[in-house]
Amino acid sequence: MKDFILKPCTRRNFLKYTSRLCYNVGLSSVLFAGLKAEAAINSTKTFEPAYLKLQKTGELKKRANELYAIMESCELCPRRCGVNRLKGESGFCCTPGATLVVSAAHPHFGEERPLVGNGGSGTIFLTHCNLRCVFCQNWEIAQLGRGNESNIDELARMMLLLQKMGCHNINLVTPTHYSALILSALDIAAERGLRLPIVYNTSGWERLEILKLLDGIVDIYLPDFKYWESDMSAKYSSEADSYPEITSGAILEMHRQVGVAHPAKDGIMQRGLMIRHLVMPNNTGGSENIMAWISQTLPKDTYVNIMAQYNPLHKAYDYPELSRRITREEYTKAVNRAKEGGLTNLDVQGYWLLG
Ligand code: SF4
Repeated sequence: MKDFILKPCTRRNFLKYTSRLCYNVGLSSVLFAGLKAEAAINSTKTFEPAYLKLQKTGELKKRANELYAIMESCELCPRRCGVNRLKGESGFCCTPGATLVVSAAHPHFGEERPLVGNGGSGTIFLTHCNLRCVFCQNWEIAQLGRGNESNIDELARMMLLLQKMGCHNINLVTPTHYSALILSALDIAAERGLRLPIVYNTSGWERLEILKLLDGIVDIYLPDFKYWESDMSAKYSSEADSYPEITSGAILEMHRQVGVAHPAKDGIMQRGLMIRHLVMPNNTGGSENIMAWISQTLPKDTYVNIMAQYNPLHKAYDYPELSRRITREEYTKAVNRAKEGGLTNLDVQGYWLLG
């Protein structure tokens, strides 16, 4: 297998891998996490992922085929380019036709705590993106497409290896332009024993027609809600002026499918909607309006991660209003608005900013 694929992971290999990681980064806590991998595997044994039923009836394969058919005149995302990806054509996202390109696959310990647990989130970084934000922190993967060519069978093997390593879920980053291939790989992996929940880690800018094809397959939706104003999404995300309208509708559909996210007894998330909002400088994202909308439209215990880590990367310095980190005041306003709206399930990652 290629670079991005993990080494075969017996328990002994996993501990060896974890020890090396500890040596490299000097974190003894990672070794502790490695020793708990077996416990992490046990915690998911009783869980049955949504896709298993559809795999058994052949519906999963049928949905994959429906998504492939859409790629013939591609409308997988709101760009609706109409290119024939099955004949190798590329649209706005620059994905090379129907070829899968993966940047990396590994246990990730930097995601939300209920996704990470002790074993990590089994994250698969897929290349290319349809938004192409000027401040993208993963621009080399998302916009330059840095990764290795792969295929459905290898993707299925990656999923199974991540499960063997003790990860708590399969976390697919920017998945929609590869959705047909992902469902095909999932069909293979489920048949071979995959039992982890699927995390659909998306910009949130999703067509309802495509989301409906994922109903009963995705266990955890992890969408961003980046902008409240269409002027902002158009300016900073390649003319995507429909972002606020489409994303708010998509989030409601995601909630309809999987409901509110509540962790299991062991603290690990297995199903539900987890919204992310990145607070940006100069109220670029419209944080307070987004918090107000969530609190007025969705249940009060909807999981919302209010992220503080904005960093001016990629082309952000071309825009003076985006060329700094956020202030304490900006972050506090977003958190206070969420609390005023009565939201109770907040992941406040910027305590250092709140003082
Ligand atoms: S997935 Fe890519 S090719 Fe298809 S509509 Fe979206 S941007 Fe265009």
